[in-house]
Amino acid sequence: MLKIVDLHAQVEGEDIEILKGINLEINKGEVHAIMGPNGSGKSTLAKVVAGHPAYEVTAGQIFFDGEDVLEMEPEERALAGLFLAFQYPVEVPGVSNAMLIRQSVNNIRKARGQEELDPLEFEDYIADKLKLVEMDNKFLDRSVNAGFSGGEKKRNEILQLAAMEPRLSLLDETDSGLDIDALRIVSEGINALRSQDNAFMVVTHYQRILNYIKPDFVHVLMGGRIVKSGGSELAHELENQGYDWLIKETHVNG
Ligand code: ADP
Ligand code: MG
Ligand code: MG
Repeated sequence: MLKIVDLHAQVEGEDIEILKGINLEINKGEVHAIMGPNGSGKSTLAKVVAGHPAYEVTAGQIFFDGEDVLEMEPEERALAGLFLAFQYPVEVPGVSNAMLIRQSVNNIRKARGQEELDPLEFEDYIADKLKLVEMDNKFLDRSVNAGFSGGEKKRNEILQLAAMEPRLSLLDETDSGLDIDALRIVSEGINALRSQDNAFMVVTHYQRILNYIKPDFVHVLMGGRIVKSGGSELAHELENQGYDWLIKETHVNG
């Protein structure tokens, strides 16, 4: 589904390379966790895949279903089924959540050649999704993210995700600032949305969320490179031992 080949990227306009040759393949049905210390490039990787304008790709390729992602505008990537949940969700005062989500859903339905949902149809559609993420109907009438707690913003991201049914979700630091209940709800949401047809890339500094979401693969990013990949047991190893042993191992291996 997603294939990243020798990806190099830097901050737009600056000459400091952040991603230094990333190779990664995500197939449908898979959940991949990207872990690593602060500043290792995890958020940059997610943003580059989503097409964030602050970053410039200097070498390498990204394919989504065989299509050249780097040739696509961020909106085109979203319509093709890529979803990026940002680390710090923005507040959009004056735009109701329901309006935003219905518009996003309809944009995607249009791109897929499906009928758009009118307000009544959308009500039914979103009711199921609200149930899934254990959110109250009242959320829909509020301005986007305005006055939401950290946990509520995260739940709302999961609601958007549930509504938009992306094929590949990029979730960045979904566990930061989450109390244990919100973490459980977000994780259960992701688990409920997991299927043989979609995939998830979960970026996280902590192993905590991985107690609720069992990844098929774990990759450790350090200094802009994936220095180790493994199964879910690698996350537990990191929880117990931190990242220091990997820094040493990486140095030994050059
Ligand atoms: P992580 O998510 O693993 O903590 P990031 O991808 O956010 O790491 O950042 C990787 C490195 O790139 C850090 O050193 C960070 O300071 C730098 N960086 C990321 N984005 C920018 C930016 N827009 N401007 C300047 N430096 C940046
Ligand atoms: Mg280079
Ligand atoms: Mg980050």
